[in-house]
Amino acid sequence: MPRLSDVLAALDALWPPERAEQWDAVGTVCGDPDASVTRVLFAVDPVREIADEAVELGAELIVTHHPLYLRGTTTVAASTFKGRVVHTLIKHDIALHVAHTNADTADPGVSDALAGALDLRIVRPLVPDPTDPHGRRGLGRVCELDRPATLRDLAARVAHRLPATAQGVRIAGDPDALVRTVAVSGGSGDSLFDQVRAAGVDAFLTADLRHHPVSEATQHSPLGLIDAAHWATEWPWCEQAAAQLDEISDRHGWDLRVHVSKTVTDPWTSHFAPTSTHPVTHPAPNPATHSSQSTHPTSASRAAVDTPGAPN
Ligand SMILES: [Zn+2]
Repeated sequence: MPRLSDVLAALDALWPPERAEQWDAVGTVCGDPDASVTRVLFAVDPVREIADEAVELGAELIVTHHPLYLRGTTTVAASTFKGRVVHTLIKHDIALHVAHTNADTADPGVSDALAGALDLRIVRPLVPDPTDPHGRRGLGRVCELDRPATLRDLAARVAHRLPATAQGVRIAGDPDALVRTVAVSGGSGDSLFDQVRAAGVDAFLTADLRHHPVSEATQHSPLGLIDAAHWATEWPWCEQAAAQLDEISDRHGWDLRVHVSKTVTDPWTSHFAPTSTHPVTHPAPNPATHSSQSTHPTSASRAAVDTPGAPN
């Protein structure tokens, strides 16, 4: 049975903390290095539901993608929700460890897991890490589809393969445009538009896309955009990471039980499809083949692909 320090050393080898962004807060939030570990729970968010799940499960370690405290704090009082999480964890001898931007850029990293869930062929990182001589680490991934698909069909694949959330999946651009290459970035990716444009891909899949970056991107080029729930785009990493730890456990004879939380912690809880009767006009989509030959702004059509089973 490994000690927490043994397991943490293995996790730090997968996602070296020094590769995290300067502003990030990765590593161990709480936990006794000498405590023994038999069960580990992977999750995206270090929230109350996940702490409770670990207690229920009898896990001694939670590994999350998002930090509990991104900035310093002067209190862990249980009257704050983060302090309540800390209290729950310490009371039940549960450690919390975070792998955030160091997991984003790892090989394999968060966007590899996202691409893998969608059966996309990875070509290269979208923003390569210059310190990686093999050119495999970095932010986001540029991918190819085995067979070209319409933006609509690719979005439907995203809605089908990623876990269901209230948000579902939105697309911007011509839903009938053919996609052969797509950039993917798990989590918030709207700071990556310059790199996406430079990559010359047909589409970009990410989360948390905002009005202005989307408006500008679709006015300037025929780039198709797919926006999924932040949590859903990062959840495949939990399965990938759990499989990595499982393999390490086997190799060391640790006999760890490794779990992935299926609790949806995306903060959006309901989605209403539009039912308004306001007399507005949705411009007809321009075929993508035309838009690539002209400098006119391309389609401003809107389409929504609702995640199956999500509340409407
Ligand atoms: Zn995230």
